[in-house]
Amino acid sequence: MRILMIRALPEVTAAAVHAVSIANELVARGHEVFIVSGSSALPTRATYLSLQLDQRSFWRRLAHLANLVRLLCKHRIQVVHVYSRAVGWVNWLAARVAGVPMIRTPDVVEPIPASARVIAAIGDRPALITIESDWLPSRSVNRARTNVETAPLGRETFPIELSGAAGLVTTNDQAETRSSYFDDTSFGIRPFGQVLLTAEPANAVHVDGRLAALFEKGQVADRLNPVASRLEYAYRSTYVKSYRREIPILCYHRLVESEAECGKFATHVRVERFEQQLRYLRDHGYRTLHFSEYNSVRVFEKEQRAVILTFDDGYEDNYRLLFPLLRKYNAKAVIYLVSGCEANDWDVPKGEKSLRLMNQFQRREMLASGLVEFGAHSVTHSDLSAVSREQAAREIHQSKVELEASLGVVVNTFAYPYGRLNAYVKERVRHAGFQFGIATDSGPLALHEDPFQMRRIVIFPGTTMRSFGRKVSGDYTFYRTTA
Ligand SMILES: [Zn+2]
Repeated sequence: MRILMIRALPEVTAAAVHAVSIANELVARGHEVFIVSGSSALPTRATYLSLQLDQRSFWRRLAHLANLVRLLCKHRIQVVHVYSRAVGWVNWLAARVAGVPMIRTPDVVEPIPASARVIAAIGDRPALITIESDWLPSRSVNRARTNVETAPLGRETFPIELSGAAGLVTTNDQAETRSSYFDDTSFGIRPFGQVLLTAEPANAVHVDGRLAALFEKGQVADRLNPVASRLEYAYRSTYVKSYRREIPILCYHRLVESEAECGKFATHVRVERFEQQLRYLRDHGYRTLHFSEYNSVRVFEKEQRAVILTFDDGYEDNYRLLFPLLRKYNAKAVIYLVSGCEANDWDVPKGEKSLRLMNQFQRREMLASGLVEFGAHSVTHSDLSAVSREQAAREIHQSKVELEASLGVVVNTFAYPYGRLNAYVKERVRHAGFQFGIATDSGPLALHEDPFQMRRIVIFPGTTMRSFGRKVSGDYTFYRTTA
């Protein structure tokens, strides 16, 4: 993602060190990170954009506002992360004007300006993020501080410690935290950089020579990793929820050439219709993805559209009709295989005709093309939420083992048969070593929020091109589920 971090103060403080360390880690993970700051004293892998944000006359602030809006637009920033409450309203307004969501990390030893209570300079949804640092004398003090600041705004806060996420702080903690908050003020307001934790000298990060040494040993990076992951998650949620856009995962089963091939259950799409859909994707600049690439793409952008095409059950027509079209359009698809069946035995008792599934040779040829990624879809296509726990666990685990043995590759995704799942089934999918569990009509709208219940959009036999366009537009599920 393209992230703009804003640091107002030119001094090198522990918060600045923290911001730069996080930025470095995010760059290493493939994000584009820009830091707006009055100083570039700390070396970073992010791009420094210089703005003297600490000069606070009214006219200077107006100039900052204009400059920030320009930078947000020029670099097509997707989320703003403000690392200080100084000039909060300027940041807030700039983000608003540019239409970019904002989250912020308050500096824990700064006083609360009245303006923070008056305007929502404290950031957009979903929550204010604060660094609950064990560099400070007391964790509860820090938590209290955050609570007291955010309570008047009626917001929940998600504090992040260096060692991991501490969980939501709600207004319920008031009584306990107010007292420690006032203890905190007795420390006085000091530059954060000079606050060294004496109880645990090994954890202390100072900004002078010792910092470089810690960087070299990798200690800072190690400790920041979980924080960077939480932030990555927060950035992505903020983006998806603000822009209401997510990578569409389409769900197909069969392709057919004629009416005679259609079955009792309308799980087919006519091959001409499917070709039209592929042409639409090509003409509108879509990239088709495999799940192995999903985490590197991260978000749906209008300028770089992405879509995942999935086909359940592994019917023989996928080889005969889908595969040639994938080659023709150089498109990718993900196919979910039922490891223990050669035909759709699970549907036949319900009156469906018997349909062949792909054989080993067909699967291997598709795999070798690089256009197809295979996932698991159980051993017998049972409703895993209805069978015994033993059977569910066995089908999940065994389908992975069997497919990996026959295909010679790692199988990372599992599609729940009939889209049916429960907490136990999800847990077994995670436990079996899958990275993603693919649902049908359930799961959060922001897909990364539950990688084991990823929502798909079903393409029906009668899906028109107009409706297809809406289904791949990125905002389809948002309108559909809130309409
Ligand atoms: Zn199925």
